[in-house]
Amino acid sequence: MIIVMKKDATTSQMDRIVSWIKQMGQQAYISQGEERTVIGIIGDTRSLDHTLISQFDGVENMVPIEKPFKLANREFHPQDTVFNVGGVAIGGERVVSIAGPCAVESFDQMLETARSVKEEGAQVLRGGAFKPRTSPYSFQGLGEEGLRILSRVREETGLPVVTEVMQPELVSLVSSYADVLQVGARNMQNFALLHAVGKAQRPVMLKRGMMSTMEELLLAAEYILLHGNPQVILCERGIRTFETYTRNTLDISAIPLLKQLTHLPVMVDPSHATGKRELVEPVSMAAVAAGADGVVIEVHPNPEEALSDGSQSLKPEQFAAMMKNLKPVAEAVGRKL
Ligand code: PEP
Ligand code: MN
Repeated sequence: MIIVMKKDATTSQMDRIVSWIKQMGQQAYISQGEERTVIGIIGDTRSLDHTLISQFDGVENMVPIEKPFKLANREFHPQDTVFNVGGVAIGGERVVSIAGPCAVESFDQMLETARSVKEEGAQVLRGGAFKPRTSPYSFQGLGEEGLRILSRVREETGLPVVTEVMQPELVSLVSSYADVLQVGARNMQNFALLHAVGKAQRPVMLKRGMMSTMEELLLAAEYILLHGNPQVILCERGIRTFETYTRNTLDISAIPLLKQLTHLPVMVDPSHATGKRELVEPVSMAAVAAGADGVVIEVHPNPEEALSDGSQSLKPEQFAAMMKNLKPVAEAVGRKL
């Protein structure tokens, strides 16, 4: 349930309500909007005296949140969530491009990629140090050495970095190097991991599971938000269908739908969605046209020799061309790139 406060409600009126909610054994979450403040009570509110709540000074009205996701719900937080990652606004007017290789392979590979994507307007660098590979015989990532490379490349280029964490025990290690913690599609419902990244109070990029519904994605985000960590990016990266020409099927409608349902920023990963480099540019255009707050693009200086996902990785010059073509699309929908 949410309690909508009057426009002129005072802090002490709010504090009185919050402490009463706590006395009743419930948790209160505050969403401070530009227009007005909303207090969310998460959980079973049947035992609360609703008439009493409505009589508190400063209360305008009370609205039940019927959907199972509460803190992620736009009803609880009507304005877009915007947060800062190393000086880059996520969820704001500018469409953010995150670019880099699938996996961190060496310092030189990361530095070369980072410099070239930055030159073309990428604002955040990606690269996996811990890789979730289907086969145990495939390259598993450089581990902590990969994290050290990422942070050295950040020092050199100033680009903040996003990298995946797969185990709750490794959240603090990865947090000590990364600006954004990525929870991959395969771990979207790893609830212990979601709790751990929530507690870390770091920005999180939560990728949609390949067989997950939007509601499951939003409920996964809810695990992170419950720890008082509002910095969650949702990432649509394609779902499994019967189609085999593409690696996954991009659910384009997920973008406007998520934007309606939630205040969290929504990004799209056309690389994993398609699995094919020649589809990355047109699908990115579609994603930006549909309202995505950012795109996540795999780029490798030499894709033929990449240790993972070479066939979907753009060459630096292809990334440059894509960024040029994406700009007018962003402007056509009132955004910047
Ligand atoms: C990745 O971004 O490196 C990745 C493995 O993606 P996903 O979890 O979406 O498959
Ligand atoms: Mn990849």
